[in-house]
Amino acid sequence: MLRSFMLYLAGHKFLRRRMERSRTVGRLTSRFVAGLTLEEELAVCSRLEEDRILATLDRLGESVTSNGDAAAARDGYLEALRRIRDAGLRSTVSVKPTQLGMDLGEDLCAAHIEPLVEEAARLGNRVEIDMESSAYVDRTLAIVRAMHQAHHNVRAVIQAYLYRSAKDVDVLCDLGVPVRLCKGAYNEPAGIAFHRKADVDANYLRLMRRLLESDADPAIATHDVRIIAEARRFAREKSIGPERFEFQMLYGIRRELSRRLAREGYRMRLYVPFGDAWYPYFMRRLAERPANLLFLLRNLLRR
Ligand SMILES: Cc1cc2nc3c(=O)[nH]c(=O)nc-3n(C[C@H](O)[C@H](O)[C@H](O)COP(=O)(O)OP(=O)(O)OC[C@H]3O[C@@H](n4cnc5c(N)ncnc54)[C@H](O)[C@@H]3O)c2cc1C
Repeated sequence: MLRSFMLYLAGHKFLRRRMERSRTVGRLTSRFVAGLTLEEELAVCSRLEEDRILATLDRLGESVTSNGDAAAARDGYLEALRRIRDAGLRSTVSVKPTQLGMDLGEDLCAAHIEPLVEEAARLGNRVEIDMESSAYVDRTLAIVRAMHQAHHNVRAVIQAYLYRSAKDVDVLCDLGVPVRLCKGAYNEPAGIAFHRKADVDANYLRLMRRLLESDADPAIATHDVRIIAEARRFAREKSIGPERFEFQMLYGIRRELSRRLAREGYRMRLYVPFGDAWYPYFMRRLAERPANLLFLLRNLLRR
């Protein structure tokens, strides 16, 4: 209930405008958001690399309604890719299709993503294409397939809560497309998605084993200690070395565990967002854990 309500608020345009202008709330987002500028973001990414933790850089923004905003997001990412190279970092970038104009047309979105993927290929980097709500899955995967065919440096995202994901994983594995597997962060109807945590987790484990055996460099994106333990056990059992997959977590969550995995020799990558369009991202993080909401309310009341 609370999760659904928070996710409903995450899509609320009026609240978004109000909240993103509030300095008080803005300060409280710092647990999940690295900073407002690319400089702040790169400083965080390079500190993480000192601890052998890699990053995927997310320039916050989604659901843009003008081609100008989509083009600005594309240019921001082009700059980020070059600055990552100049700083000698091993960060990738993560983009959201609706930030690059998906709501204005699939072709327009692909036309904004392609130069990013090309530039990343030229720089020896990779673009991870986030998955948004189910309305976008077919169009997003179509773009992923086209980019993979042309450049071989994109990673798709699959959400374990969707019933369709087993089939999508099979297709992507057959094509050799690297996949980031997550549980899924949006409000989806029961007709297309598992709702019980136990069912989502069971599907996650099934898809994870399939991906680990696929040899297409999967990313196991979760903070769930039981799933992480099973990934490690399964990899050992099947002699899948730690160089053949990576763990991913969100910046600000389970920090000690991410450090420990990196120290133990696993490839660990954090999804590190920056920028001022933080509201929907932040609300999804609150929806995932009611304790985060209590923390926010306590801090707001204290001011
Ligand atoms: C690297 C990465 C990229 C992602 N990309 C996408 C994407 O493209 N599309 C998409 O739909 N979703 C994406 N997600 C979000 C994902 O779908 C889940 O909503 C989110 O990761 C929470 O699920 P979980 O696997 O951690 O498991 P859960 O069962 O939700 O959580 C397991 C434990 O992790 C901790 N935890 C989880 N979330 C939080 C939080 N917000 N605050 C504090 N503690 C928390 C808690 O201790 C919790 O008990 C991504 C997640 C990661 C890690």
